[in-house]
Amino acid sequence: MSSDLLGYEQAASIVAQYAHAIRGYAQQCREKINLASASGRILASPLHADEDQPPFPRSTRDGYACRATEVSSRIALPVVGITHAGEAPAAPLPEKSAWEIMTGAPVPEGADCVVMLEHVERTADTIRLAPSRTIASGENFVARGAQSRRGDHILDSGVSIGSSQIALAASCGYSALEVFCRPRVAILTTGDELVAIDSTPGPGKIRNSNAPMLAALIQKFGADPVVLATAADTAEALDSALAQVVHADMLLISGGVSAGKHDLVEPALARVGAQFYFTGVKIQPGKPLVFGEIPRRPESPTAQVFFGLPGNPISSAATFHFFATPILAALAGSNEIHPRFVLAQLARDTDRKAKPGLTRFLPAHCTFNRSVDALPQVETVPWHGSGDLTAFAQSNCFLVIPEDKSGLGAGSTVRILLH
Ligand code: AMP
Ligand code: MG
Repeated sequence: MSSDLLGYEQAASIVAQYAHAIRGYAQQCREKINLASASGRILASPLHADEDQPPFPRSTRDGYACRATEVSSRIALPVVGITHAGEAPAAPLPEKSAWEIMTGAPVPEGADCVVMLEHVERTADTIRLAPSRTIASGENFVARGAQSRRGDHILDSGVSIGSSQIALAASCGYSALEVFCRPRVAILTTGDELVAIDSTPGPGKIRNSNAPMLAALIQKFGADPVVLATAADTAEALDSALAQVVHADMLLISGGVSAGKHDLVEPALARVGAQFYFTGVKIQPGKPLVFGEIPRRPESPTAQVFFGLPGNPISSAATFHFFATPILAALAGSNEIHPRFVLAQLARDTDRKAKPGLTRFLPAHCTFNRSVDALPQVETVPWHGSGDLTAFAQSNCFLVIPEDKSGLGAGSTVRILLH
């Protein structure tokens, strides 16, 4: 292993720095879309509250609005009115009285608490607090404007829009949202052995599985894939592929970055003036990973960030998840750029044959359980190397083995990345 290769942490931090640097200007393009189709997009302009939220002091219980100092188990209070959810706020609460109220209804002015229905003794027209029950001012209602005040900034741009953000936007009257345009990511697969999915591979040939896999990943991470024609392993083929004007924000090249005779991608990138930030990382799989930028060419609108992903399918998938996703997130305008590692508990020892020195990403299967106080259980999937798509398809995550460990023991808490 060459000692000048970067470790995982160093390489990941170079990627993170690049992602931070481009985040501010990466996204110039915005579009307005219906709220109903905004899930998974990135908010491009902040949201503001159109009204105080809640717009009135809102009861959170069915019960009786009253003043905490007036209600007790000794003195019965007359029930002088009733408000249902959806009705306008009632008249102010007269002194020494209670007002029947439903969940979601406006609490009358003057009341400072809502006593739960279950906590009172009721006659035809009075209530008193049930013995042993207490109530304090402020209980069981949310004050007007407690969540936000009219005009408040309630959501930042750069936030990823999911169901909760959609609900908030709906509550403030946004039927459309301004979002960033999806980045375009070009996929260039290379290799003389590759044939199309619908053809029968001749001797020594295999179907191109990376192109559809990478396209699926790019879509999953909120971008639009542009699949280019596969390039043969010749300098001419790569030069002409790279010369194509691709109006893409990022370029993913698969294959041709190892040290073999036909690994011609790096020299081809160098011929278009590429700047390399790293060429190889101490990881397995994915060690030959290349990261850099092609300077702006006359025909293209901007410089183009690229990754040269090792062609083995699991290497391509792992390096995409661990290194390309932060750049993709930044290009998409997201303010959440880091891979989402989560903790799990290892169900079985990993094999300890591997030499330490490489950070390893092993295809693994994580089982989520019902329990709220146990970590998900994870175990590695037996595999025949980084071309084993059968094993990979049984996995749902990568298990991370740090570079100073040869393996990890059953029961230990480990870091995984769901894929
Ligand atoms: P390379 O990185 O070009 O040396 O390729 C490493 C391994 O990955 C070889 O076994 C290739 O046949 C395989 N490979 C390369 N590109 C693809 C692809 N697009 N789809 C499936 N396998 C690939
Ligand atoms: Mg190749």
